[in-house]
Amino acid sequence: MEILVSLSKRRGFVFQSSEIYGGLGGFWDYGPLGVELKNNIKRAWWKAVVQERDDIVGLDASIVMNPRVWVASGHVDTFADPMVDCKECKKRFRADDLAGHVAAGVHGHAAEAGVARCPECGGELTEPRMFNLMFKTFVGPVEDQASTVHLRPETAQGMFVNFDNVLTATRRKLPFGMAQIGKAFRNEITPGNFIFRDREFEQMEIEYFVKPGTDEEWHQHWVEARRNWYLGLGIREENLRVRRLDKEELAHYAKDTYEVEYLFPMGWSELEGIANRTDFDLRRHTEFSGRQLTYYDEESGEHIVPYVIEPSSGVDRCFLAVLFDGYREETVRGEKRVLLRLHPSLAPIKAAVLPLSRHESLAPPARKVWDLLRPHWMTQFDDSQSIGRRYRRQDEVGTPYCVTVDFDTLEDQAVTIRDRDSMDQVRVPIAGLVEALRERLD
Ligand SMILES: [Zn+2]
Repeated sequence: MEILVSLSKRRGFVFQSSEIYGGLGGFWDYGPLGVELKNNIKRAWWKAVVQERDDIVGLDASIVMNPRVWVASGHVDTFADPMVDCKECKKRFRADDLAGHVAAGVHGHAAEAGVARCPECGGELTEPRMFNLMFKTFVGPVEDQASTVHLRPETAQGMFVNFDNVLTATRRKLPFGMAQIGKAFRNEITPGNFIFRDREFEQMEIEYFVKPGTDEEWHQHWVEARRNWYLGLGIREENLRVRRLDKEELAHYAKDTYEVEYLFPMGWSELEGIANRTDFDLRRHTEFSGRQLTYYDEESGEHIVPYVIEPSSGVDRCFLAVLFDGYREETVRGEKRVLLRLHPSLAPIKAAVLPLSRHESLAPPARKVWDLLRPHWMTQFDDSQSIGRRYRRQDEVGTPYCVTVDFDTLEDQAVTIRDRDSMDQVRVPIAGLVEALRERLD
């Protein structure tokens, strides 16, 4: 984890938010390469679930919604973690994180057997209290109870409340789904593990509406489809697993849930949850809004409340998994090289143009080659330091191809393409370079 945090900062993938002021726990900024990787992850997801399917449409709902939404969804009542405070050092912990943590005798007296003490200082803890994880703010000029709103803790509700709008606008038949990418906010008591548990994060969620009775079959479809999506991005199979949650782990709305988990350094952890939310949400919003959120089933001639399967994944967690999975250290001719084996579709930079040296005769043709590639892909131009150092720098950020312009280029109008993983080099004419890279990148 430390290696990746350091690489992320050094090369501009992820920075601590407002770092010059000491940062803010659970908030992160994505740097020049990070924003590219993040956008590529979101693009790959959107392509797989919206563009390439005929049964899902997109949505981009607002972050702040009518406060009744969160009463109906159950978040006001149940979206809470038990928390305890240390009476001595004032630090706050999740009570379930401390279960069984006994620091007897830190203050020279034996703690009662089985009673948790502060893991930081051994101090006495308060009784657990429920702490709602939603961020609060106010709409309008008056800060009172009536104007209190929340930053959404999930993007899902924006899709449920738009069920009727989307159904009417698109004339969809069941089964059909909505997909949304957007920021969500949770005031986590203990954020941690770099960008794994953030207070501000981005979700990629699908709400897939089906006829009751077909929900279990569709649930299996989505578990398989989502697992395959990660494999298609090059995530190694041995680092990915699907786990069915136990009954006591299920959220209040879920009939059944599977998690796609990745083997992070801190152990198997959730990348994506795929829940069968039944008709809970549509029924609750019907009840609280007074608007019928039903579907007219022509076959039976009845209005039905669809069930929903929800594949819900985290952009930031996927980002972290992609970095871990791609990270390699190799020894090449006695020298260490670090490389990120990113799938070409995710790599922030697709190709780097490198003149062999800073010799003045190489600059004009190298710039021309760069001009040729820029309209097609994110590219970089680098002419500082030795060619070997520049290859290493590109390897370290996952650039799949380097294009080298050398003295022969002046004679043969050709360049060398170097492959990141195999380090093989092939010579191609400049006239065919775009085509040659397209073949490799697609
Ligand atoms: Zn303490």
